[in-house]
Amino acid sequence: MNARLDRPLPAGLDGLLVTPGPDLVYFTGLRPPVTERLTMLVLPARVLVVPALEHPGELPGLEVVPWRDGEDPYAVVAALLEPGGRYAISDSAWAMHVIALQEAAPRTRWTSMTGSLPMLRAVKDAAEVELLAAAGAAADATYEQILSVRFAGRTEVQVAADLARLLREHGHEQVDFTIVAAGPNGADPHHDIGDRVIREGDMVVLDFGGLKDGYGSDTTRTVHVGAPTPYEQRVFDVVRAAQQAAFEAVRPGVAGQEIDRVARDIIEDAGFGEFFIHRTGHGIGLTTHEPPYLVRGEEQPLVPGMCFSIEPGIYLPGRFGVRIEDIVTVTGTGGRRLNTTDHALAVVS
Ligand code: ZN
Ligand code: ZN
Ligand code: ZN
Repeated sequence: MNARLDRPLPAGLDGLLVTPGPDLVYFTGLRPPVTERLTMLVLPARVLVVPALEHPGELPGLEVVPWRDGEDPYAVVAALLEPGGRYAISDSAWAMHVIALQEAAPRTRWTSMTGSLPMLRAVKDAAEVELLAAAGAAADATYEQILSVRFAGRTEVQVAADLARLLREHGHEQVDFTIVAAGPNGADPHHDIGDRVIREGDMVVLDFGGLKDGYGSDTTRTVHVGAPTPYEQRVFDVVRAAQQAAFEAVRPGVAGQEIDRVARDIIEDAGFGEFFIHRTGHGIGLTTHEPPYLVRGEEQPLVPGMCFSIEPGIYLPGRFGVRIEDIVTVTGTGGRRLNTTDHALAVVS
C-alpha cells in the first residue's frame, strides 16, 4: 500500500486529492461514508483530512488530521497545497467539496483524476487479479445455475431476481446490475428490466455483475428459449467469432482501440456493423466500469495486469440482441479469461 502512496506523479501535476470511493480504497483501503463532511487524502503530503467523528485511528505512512464541526476543512487542505500548483481530484468528489476547495485555494489549478491519470488503477497486481478471478468464478457459477431455472412464462424481473440471489449466494456483497432482456428488449444494450413475460422463441441477453470482496464481476451470455432459428444462430455465431478474435488479439503493447477494431471488423464484414452500437469493452477493478476502455481513439497500449471486459454485440431493433462478455486480464504473452463458461448458445426452457 505504501508503494501506491509513493507513486510518481506525471510531469505538470503537483498532487492528488483523493475522496471516498475507489481511489481512496486504492490508496488506503478505507471505505468511509460519502457525506457532506469532507474526507480527503492529500498527496504527496500524505495527510488524511477526516471528520473527527470518523477518525479511522492510526494509519501507517499517513498523518491523520481530524476536523470538528464548525471548523473549516477546506482551509486545512488548502494550506497543504503548493501555491499555484496543479492538482488532480477524484472523479467521484462531490461538487460541493470541489467548489469549496476552489474558493479556499483560488490560485490552484484543477484537473480530474481521469483527465490526468486515467490509468491510475488500471494495472492490477497479482492479488487483485485473483480477486477479480474469484468474482468472475462466482458470476460463472451464477450463469451455470440460471440455465436450469424456468424462463418461459416468467417475467424479466423474476429471472433478474434469481440472478441477484445467485450472485449473493456465490459471495457477492453488492449486486450492481442484472439485465434480463428478452426478445426485442435485447436490442437495447442497457435494457431496464420490466414485466415482459419471456416466451418460447425469445433470445434473452443476461448481463450481470457486482462486487465480491471489493472487486467487480461483469459477464454476459445470451440464451435462447427453445431451439433458435438458423438466422438467430447465424447472428449469434458472428458475435461469438468477434469475441473470440478480440480475445486472441490481447497481448502487451497492443492499443485498446486495436481490440475494438478486431471485434468490429468481424461484425462489419458479416454485414451487421451498424448494429454494433457500443465500445468493445471497459476496465474493471474496484468499480465495474473504469479505464482502460476498448474504444476507437484509445491509444494506450495494453500492459500485463490490466483487466477489462470484451463484450461485442449485435442489436437488431424490434427483433433481438446478442452479446457475449468475458472479463480478460493481460498476461506477459496474451490474455487470460476470468470468465470461463461455455460460449455456445445455450437453450433454456
Ligand atoms: Zn428465437
Ligand atoms: Zn456486462
Ligand atoms: Zn461490461
